[in-house]
Amino acid sequence: AQRDAAFPVVIVGHVDHGKSTLVGRLLHDTGAIPAARIAALREQSARRGLDLEFSFLLDSLQIERDQGITVDAAQVWFRGAERRYAVLDAPGHAEFLRNMVTGAAQAEAAVLVVDAEQGVGEQTRRHLYLLSILSVSTIVVALNKMDRVEWSEARFEELRVELAEYLGALDLVAQHVVPLSARHGDNVVTRSEAAPWYAGPSLIGALDGLPPRRQPTELALRLPVQDVYRLGERRVLVGRIETGRLGLGEEIVLAPGGRTAKVLSLEHWGGEARSTAGAGESVAVLLDKDVFAERGQVLGPAAAPPSEAHALTVRLFWLDTEPLLQGERLTLRHGTAETRAAVEAIDAVIDVDTLTSIPAERLERNGVARARLRARRPLALDTYGASPRTGRGVLVRNHRIVGGFVVEALEAAGSNL
Ligand code: GDP
Repeated sequence: AQRDAAFPVVIVGHVDHGKSTLVGRLLHDTGAIPAARIAALREQSARRGLDLEFSFLLDSLQIERDQGITVDAAQVWFRGAERRYAVLDAPGHAEFLRNMVTGAAQAEAAVLVVDAEQGVGEQTRRHLYLLSILSVSTIVVALNKMDRVEWSEARFEELRVELAEYLGALDLVAQHVVPLSARHGDNVVTRSEAAPWYAGPSLIGALDGLPPRRQPTELALRLPVQDVYRLGERRVLVGRIETGRLGLGEEIVLAPGGRTAKVLSLEHWGGEARSTAGAGESVAVLLDKDVFAERGQVLGPAAAPPSEAHALTVRLFWLDTEPLLQGERLTLRHGTAETRAAVEAIDAVIDVDTLTSIPAERLERNGVARARLRARRPLALDTYGASPRTGRGVLVRNHRIVGGFVVEALEAAGSNL
C-alpha cells in the first residue's frame, strides 16, 4: 500500500547536466541508502583514486536491478518530510515517452535538471515538449552546478527568465526554480548559505510543497469489462476499476451502447462481498437486469459516461523500426477493447528538436505525430487530459506493440467527464 502512496517523479534534463548526481544526492541525504552501502562505495571509489561520486549510487542500484539481485531496487525511492517519492526511470526521452504512453509509468511531477553553466540545451527543450504532451505540468527546475557559476544571482535570474519563456510557449510553468549543487549538496535536501539572495525552498522542500496527486478514485468511474458471465437471468461483469468508485445500488451505463442497469451486488476478487470498491480493485459486478454486455465495454456512471467514438485525434508515438504509413490498418487496444483501426491521416510529424510540425505521410521510429485514427468498432474512451488512464491506448502490428497514443480529441460529443 505504501508503494501506491509514493509520489512518482521523473527526472529529466540534458545529458551531463547532473541527473544521476542529483538522484544519488537525494538518496544519500534523505537516508535512503544504508550507511554500510555508502561506506563500501566510498572505499571502491578511493581504491580507484576517486572521491565518492553520487552518481555511483544510482549506477550501483542499476546494476543490481539489471542482475535482478534485489527486488527493492526495482525502483528508486526517497523520502521527504511530507511523503515518499518514486523516481521513474528516464534513461532517454524515447524510453520515458514509451513508458508514459503505454501506461507502464505515470509521472505526477517532473524535476528538470539544468546545468547553470551550460544553460538550456536542445534536449532540455525536447524534454519539456514531451512533458507538455503527456500533461505532466507540475515542474520543478533544479538549476544545478551553481558552484560552477560562483552562485551568481545574475546568472540564476537570466536562466529563470529564459526557462519561463520556453515553458510559457508550451503552456507550462515551473512551480519552483531552485539554485543548487547536486555534487556539494547545497539546496538539495538542506538549505544552503551559498545563495543568501535565494529565499525559496530546497529541492525536497519544493517537492514536498507540490499539491497532492489527483487520486484515480477522484475521477469518474471507469471499469473496462474483462469478462461477462451469466448467472440465471442476470449478468456478472468482471474487471479492474481503473478510476473512480462503484457502490451498491448505483446506476451504471455500459459504453458503447448506452444500456443502463443498477448494481445489485459487488464482490471483491477473492469472493468477498463489498458495498463499495475503488480504483485499482478487481471486482465482479452483478447487474439487476439482463442487459447485453461484452468484453471491451466500459462501465461508467449513468451521469458521467465515457465518450463513444469511432474517430479520434491522437498524439502518436511510434516504436517500431518499420515506419507507420498513412492509411495503414492495425489493431488498436484500449483498456480491454480491441478493434481494427485505420490511420486515416498523419496530420503532422513533430520535430522534437525544433518543435516545428512537418507535414508527412509516414512516421519513423521514436517519432511523434498528431494523427487521426478511425476504429472499425466504436470505443468508449476519454481524452488524456480528462483521464490519463482511460485516455490512452496502443497500436499492435503482428502481435507486437508498435505504437502508443494519447487521446487529444474525439469526434463524437457526449463526454461528461
Ligand atoms: P547526467 O548525465 O545528467 O546524469 O549527469 P551526471 O550526474 O552524470 O553528471 C555529469 C557531470 O557533472 C559529472 O561529472 C558530475 O560530477 C558533474 N556534476 C553534477 N552535479 C554537479 C554540481 O552540482 N557541481 C559540479 N561542479 N559538478 C556537478
